[in-house]
Amino acid sequence: MLFAWIRHPSLRQHGTRAYLRQPENPSRMRAESAGNAGMWIDIGVNLTHSRFDPDRDAVIARAIDAGVERMILTSSDGPGVLAAKQLRQRDPERLWITSGIHPHEAGQLRDEDWETVCTHAEQPDVVAIGECGLDYFRNLSEPEQQRRIFEKQVELAIRLGKPLFLHERHAHADLLAILENAGPALPKAVLHCFTGTAVELEHYLTLGLWIGLTGWVCDERRGRHLVALLPEIPEDRLLIETDAPYLLPRTLPDPPRNKRNEPAFLPHIAAFLASHLNRDLMDFSSQLRTNSFHFFWPHAAFQELPSHAHARSFSPR
Ligand SMILES: [Zn+2]
Repeated sequence: MLFAWIRHPSLRQHGTRAYLRQPENPSRMRAESAGNAGMWIDIGVNLTHSRFDPDRDAVIARAIDAGVERMILTSSDGPGVLAAKQLRQRDPERLWITSGIHPHEAGQLRDEDWETVCTHAEQPDVVAIGECGLDYFRNLSEPEQQRRIFEKQVELAIRLGKPLFLHERHAHADLLAILENAGPALPKAVLHCFTGTAVELEHYLTLGLWIGLTGWVCDERRGRHLVALLPEIPEDRLLIETDAPYLLPRTLPDPPRNKRNEPAFLPHIAAFLASHLNRDLMDFSSQLRTNSFHFFWPHAAFQELPSHAHARSFSPR
């Protein structure tokens, strides 16, 4: 079962070799992709990161070719919100954004950055507050400052009735305490890139959190314990993300030489998870898609797969 995903024809089709070469006939390639590869929503991609500067349009186009229907651009500070907002203009149907302050940035937060985050958080294109939370692993900001800025963002999410996009590393107890303090007012929240223990997972699930999984789970050195925890995650509270350009899945059959992750690899992560959960890939795609819509776009009438999903390509400016 371990590498059953390799045999999936759509994944062979989306192998790295195919993505590295520019297809001679992109529309034909898209049509081939549409057959059985599923549709996917990347709930966390750092698409404004400078590593995408040389070829951002091509990265987006490859994601679409791979069946990635929507991408949520993660913001981590005031300028990041503005950059994500600007990028979204290129394809507002597919690109959505978060607005928030990453714990690494908490120590140098300026008033105008907080203003930016709050102002944009109210807009309908912002589907979550974050990424926000606590990171005591790197401790790039003082823990006290991290907690203060995180609490402000929990308050903001409550005030606006928007979900939280949470980041936590080595700070489980403190993060949990702040979320519990919010009581019944706590909005929906996803713990993005969950890499914690069974006990931590249980605490988060008890609090009603959703769980975001990345290619970390494909890492045989660091992610093995996560594979064992997969059955514990309720299927309707699971979301997936690449966190690109970080966390290139180590199980990619033909990884890019530059080691950069990108949203086109999301179906690979999904297939890895589906194989370990003994789930049919198409059913799994449908479940994750439903979950993503319930979490980020609960007020939109739930859409069946859009007819234009593969008929319309991304046109870079
Ligand atoms: Zn993060």
